Parts: sequence; C-alpha cells; structure tokens
Amino acid sequence: MSEQVQHWHVTYNDIHDLIRKATPEIAAKFNPDILIAIGGGGFFPARVMRTFFRETTNNKTLQIQAIGLSLYEPVEGTTAEQIGNEVIRTQWLGPDPGKILLGKKNLIVDEVDDTRKTLQSVPLSLSLARHLRPDSYALTELKKDVEVELLNYPEPERNALRTKTQFAVFVVHNKLKPKLAELPQEVPYFAGEEVGDVWLDYPWEAVDIQRHDALAAADRKS
Ligand code: 5GP
Repeated sequence: MSEQVQHWHVTYNDIHDLIRKATPEIAAKFNPDILIAIGGGGFFPARVMRTFFRETTNNKTLQIQAIGLSLYEPVEGTTAEQIGNEVIRTQWLGPDPGKILLGKKNLIVDEVDDTRKTLQSVPLSLSLARHLRPDSYALTELKKDVEVELLNYPEPERNALRTKTQFAVFVVHNKLKPKLAELPQEVPYFAGEEVGDVWLDYPWEAVDIQRHDALAAADRKS
C-alpha cells in the first residue's frame, strides 16, 4: 500500500514573511546585483524579495531576470522518456545571456529545493549523470553562458571578470531530505525555512484562494 503524501498549504503571507526575514542576511552576506527567478515558482518570491532589498539597501532596485525550467510538467515536443528525468529549458536570458550575468552577483531564486535537480551543478556519479543530464540545470547553464561571454575578453581581464561573477541561491523552502548533489562551496545558499519531506501547496497554484487559506489554517491546527 502506498503511503499518502502529507500536504502543507503555504499562504502568500507566509511567503512574504519568510522573504522579509531572509533578505537582510542575504544583503549582508551576498548583496546581489540581479535576481534570476526560476519560473514559475521563483517569480513571486523574486518580486517580493525586490521590495525588501529596496528597503534593506537604501532604495537599490534589483533587476529581475527570468529563466524557465520544467521538471514535472511535460512541454510540447517532450518525449515520455524525458519527462521527469530531465530538466528542460523553457525560457532563458535572451540572445546574449552571458552579458547579463558577467561581472555581477547573481542571486538565483526558486520557491523550493526538493531533490535539487533544478539547482544542481555537478553530477555525483556517472550512473546518476546518465539519468540527470548535468548540462540541463540552472547553475551549470548560467555558468556556461558566462564562460562563452568571457571568450570575448583577453587575459588577465578574463580571469578578473570570472572571479567577479558570482552566484548564490535563495529558496523559500528547503526540504530536509537527501539531495542529488551538493552545490559548489563557493555558491552561498539561503533558505527562508527548512521543512520536512512534505508536499507544499503554494498559493499561486490555488484556484480558490479562500479555500487554500482555510486549508492552511487547518494544517496549522492539526
Ligand atoms: P527539485 O527537485 O529540482 O529541487 O524541484 C523541482 C521543482 O519541483 C521545484 O522548483 C517545484 O516546481 C517542484 N516541486 C518540488 N517539490 C515541490 C512541492 O513540495 N510543492 C510544489 N508545489 N512543487 C514542488
């Protein structure tokens, strides 16, 4: 008999509060120049975070760029084999992505770190890599874009720009569970809240928001 997945309903206010609490630490330790929102779950958190950065950093308005990666939902043209096994780029940073990222502190924003397939940068083993296609993930892809852009610069400028280009990750929720890979040590990682291995129901997925909020209140009572 399969075990029922436990659901936890998260409200807009929960997310707002978690981001408000997380932002000062991120501003102090990383101080991003740009937010890279992973769609669709990272869009709302990135927009809310911009509000708190503006407040924390004396009116600095961060640009928000969007990237789209699809993991569970099939997109047109995806084979059955690809679905669930691969992260697929559905949207990226325009014709010269490296130009957007180069020399900046780029904060990748997503709603949840579950298996870490989406954020992952390095495969753990070859057998895992066969399933996970490491060239398909956010951090690896963004770093590749930076390397392409760096080819336009001679040394030693190239190396200086490479050093200057940094990445960090913010997720609203980090599920405390085994991850498919570690993020590189030089990539700071921030989570609004750590949760168990439950299924999080986000408010932007709800059709009836009043019912969603009622379910969230019931979750907290149970
Ligand atoms: P990953 O396994 O790569 O860490 O998570 C990939 C994506 O799966 C997330 O960005 C999110 O869209 C979806 N996902 C994973 N866990 C949950 C969850 O608990 N709730 C919802 N709504 N989506 C999730």
